[in-house]
Amino acid sequence: MAYDDQNIFAKILRGEIPCNKVYEDEYALAFHDIAPQAPVHVLVIPKGSYVSMADFSATGSPDEIAGYFRAIGIVARQLGLDEPGYRLIANHGRDAHQEVPHLHFHIFGGRSMKGMVPKPAES
Ligand code: AMP
Repeated sequence: MAYDDQNIFAKILRGEIPCNKVYEDEYALAFHDIAPQAPVHVLVIPKGSYVSMADFSATGSPDEIAGYFRAIGIVARQLGLDEPGYRLIANHGRDAHQEVPHLHFHIFGGRSMKGMVPKPAES
């Protein structure tokens, strides 16, 4: 899938639309999800143009991959989530219901999240 530079996160990265930023460095930008599904729901996106884990893992440079994953850990720590914990989710493609075609990890925290994935009838 080709990268669409008109996707909403590309526009946020270019500063064309605002976000509620929580962290930024050379490799990543983190901001609050506009429709939070947990008391803490933050998205972390790489600065490079990657649709999802599929192309990021295949073509991202070692520096980009290391910098991005380090940033996710930094953001979770800065949000105070190392204890009692948090959940990371990155959706790829149709079955995962990925909505925005720019790689993002969701950080969920602030409540217990028992259960790993939705049951088939709910998905
Ligand atoms: P996904 O289904 O993994 O692609 O999730 C996309 C997420 O982006 C959803 O949780 C949306 O609520 C969130 N989202 C969409 N537009 C914005 C926006 N402008 N600012 C922050 N979060 C957004």
